[in-house]
Amino acid sequence: MRLEAVRIPQRLRAFPAQGAEVFDVTIDACVVKSIEPSQQAARGTLLSGLVDAHAHIDKNFTVREVGAAEGDLFAAIGRAAAHRAGWTADALRVRMTRALDDAWRSGTRALRTHLDWRDASPPISLAVFEALREAWRDRVELQFVALTPLDLFADAEAGVRVASTVKRAVGVLGAFIYRNEGIVHKLERVFDLAQDHGLALDFHVDEGLDAQATGLRTIAQLAIARRFTGRVTCGHACSLSVQDDAAAQDTLSLCAQAGIHLVALPTTNLYLQGAWDRTPLQRGITRIREAASLGVRTSLATDNVQDAFYPYGSYDLIETFGLGVQMAHLAPAFDWLDAVTVSPARALGLAWDGRIGPGCPADLVLLAATDEYELLDPRGRRRIVIRAGHVSNRW
Ligand SMILES: [Zn+2]
Repeated sequence: MRLEAVRIPQRLRAFPAQGAEVFDVTIDACVVKSIEPSQQAARGTLLSGLVDAHAHIDKNFTVREVGAAEGDLFAAIGRAAAHRAGWTADALRVRMTRALDDAWRSGTRALRTHLDWRDASPPISLAVFEALREAWRDRVELQFVALTPLDLFADAEAGVRVASTVKRAVGVLGAFIYRNEGIVHKLERVFDLAQDHGLALDFHVDEGLDAQATGLRTIAQLAIARRFTGRVTCGHACSLSVQDDAAAQDTLSLCAQAGIHLVALPTTNLYLQGAWDRTPLQRGITRIREAASLGVRTSLATDNVQDAFYPYGSYDLIETFGLGVQMAHLAPAFDWLDAVTVSPARALGLAWDGRIGPGCPADLVLLAATDEYELLDPRGRRRIVIRAGHVSNRW
């Protein structure tokens, strides 16, 4: 297969560009064989397969049953909890499969989902997830995070049971953190468990507009003190947006030192943060640009899709990317395409970091967009998904 006249964003290149911006790419069997400067005008944009660092495939598509929470995170948590009592393995399998099918069609090659995990016993979603992880192994590489209330870790025995199950099921340990009492002590327990069991960490942290929510800072300090660097992912960190510049900068410097991966979730942040009784002024997205400029790896991910937390949306990461570009003024947009490819691949510790070069897997997405402006145009978002050197679908 030969792909002629494609742009490859600079941050996705693992080859010398020789001053060129447009390339001809040849694919042989399952790998990229050669990349040469092209003499033609660009006809498309080539990316590595997309990587979704933060999703909730156990809850998605439930909004018609639970109703939308209209800007109230804790109302959404309450509605989801009530709905969870009626979850069945069959219903979970149907909605999880729908999510994976959508993600796969749009070009996602790996996805990390959080699974609601309310107590010491594993949720019924875990067995369903494990079966789907195996069934989808050659299409979408799947990871899971135990989404546990931080307060559960106050009970030492419950914490050990969660960590042991997560280790057995080859997952990631996580927690929901927002202004908890005794936050340092509870987080220390989570770090103890991660270190004892050899687990990575992935937190929902500071998902609100209270400037006093400083969980991210505590996590960064603990990771540094314990030399647990490069193994912690933090999603949301909305409160960083309302803290003063000096405090936010200081926290982000600690995150850089701790090698924390920061994930911004544009759709859910827009929906749940800011006022609902008037036009919202505060929009809740974390300080993704300042983070990146300090060397913190930043990703954009889908988060909730059609559930109480976010009633709209899809698993098209290029659409999520476009919203992030507009919401956080990520320009030039080409320079941020690593936020849905290389950065999340590194956060998830994937075997291939998503940089394109001779010898890399031919798991690629060819967008119709010929420049950065067309990236946000539905016509430019049209794509050909290439897996193992073959066109798997057109979208
Ligand atoms: Zn989430």
